[in-house]
Amino acid sequence: MAIQPLAPGGVIGVLGGGQLGRMLALAAAPLGLKTHVYCPDPDSPAFDVAADHTIAAYDDEAALARFAASVDVVTYEFENVPAETAKLVAGRKPLFPDARALSTTQDRFYEKTFLRNLGLPTPNFAHVDDRATLVAAVAAVGRPSVLKTRRFGYDGKGQGLVREGLALDDALAMMGGQPAILEAFVHFRAEVSVIAARGRSGEFAAYDVVENRHENHILRSSHVPASIRPETAASAVAMAKKIADELKYVGVLGLELFLVDGPTGERVMVNEIAPRVHNSGHWTIEGAATSQFEQHVRAIAGWPLGSTATRGTVTMTNLLGAEADRWRDLLAEPGASLHLYGKGEPKPGRKMGHVTRLA
Ligand code: AMP
Repeated sequence: MAIQPLAPGGVIGVLGGGQLGRMLALAAAPLGLKTHVYCPDPDSPAFDVAADHTIAAYDDEAALARFAASVDVVTYEFENVPAETAKLVAGRKPLFPDARALSTTQDRFYEKTFLRNLGLPTPNFAHVDDRATLVAAVAAVGRPSVLKTRRFGYDGKGQGLVREGLALDDALAMMGGQPAILEAFVHFRAEVSVIAARGRSGEFAAYDVVENRHENHILRSSHVPASIRPETAASAVAMAKKIADELKYVGVLGLELFLVDGPTGERVMVNEIAPRVHNSGHWTIEGAATSQFEQHVRAIAGWPLGSTATRGTVTMTNLLGAEADRWRDLLAEPGASLHLYGKGEPKPGRKMGHVTRLA
């Protein structure tokens, strides 16, 4: 049976209470929708702005059942939702994006295999479980290459470079006993991303391609328009559509790509898929006709998608750690829009907020 669209007044359940959940809740409110945020951390930034919240573990079946009973549809703001949690919730209420989107994207080896089977370009890769598979992987992929844990990696955590001369025992030690994937190192010119949405009836809308700068593996800033040829941008968007269609995806996804120069000109290779709203889409709040957060809400609610038109030249800069202490200066800067996530301690590298500048 087809799932009915939400009516205004409906409740969206959000698994995860970080800044992405916070901005989702803030986008749902003007549309007359409420949010119920579920997160084990009592200090979750999303709790401040949600109509309701639950503080409980992701394996607390009774709490999950009560949560599911109180909402109309469930989504998540991080891809490491345990499979059992997703299954339990999806058995009670529609889960968007669904459990297949989660299982495909939360394991780097499954994800790259999925991409390869779709015919999309990725760095060469092989799985690594032990010494023997590491030897085989290095022989197949070569050096330099990047060893990444298959699961639970983000912002470069759980990653190491396998350079020329590195002893295999040292590479094995980097994995810390976790199943891993070895990927060819890509000499990219730039990193870009596609933020796109697919609605419940298959409609698709993508924002302009974003150019992203990283520092210490953490996103520093996003820029629109990206310095990319129109046909390369079109091929990146086509890749996002192919992925979304294949997964029968519902919601916003972020596709991270490497822009590489080759003998036949520039091209893109897929790095990873984020089955959620994405840091490199924060610029859309002020910089596009519909923000990625509103777009995600529209998609999972079964509502029409909004326009993704860009409103100018946009830069989004993350405020990491103590950088957020500059809030007073940023407030005084004409054309700058400040977002603070209401987090407690400004640990180094922690995403405390962002600022968007529109020209
Ligand atoms: P990831 O966690 O896979 O998104 O990786 C974090 C960052 O590490 C990326 O944004 C790149 O800057 C870098 N990186 C990841 N994989 C590769 C690769 N195969 N070659 C070169 N750089 C990489």
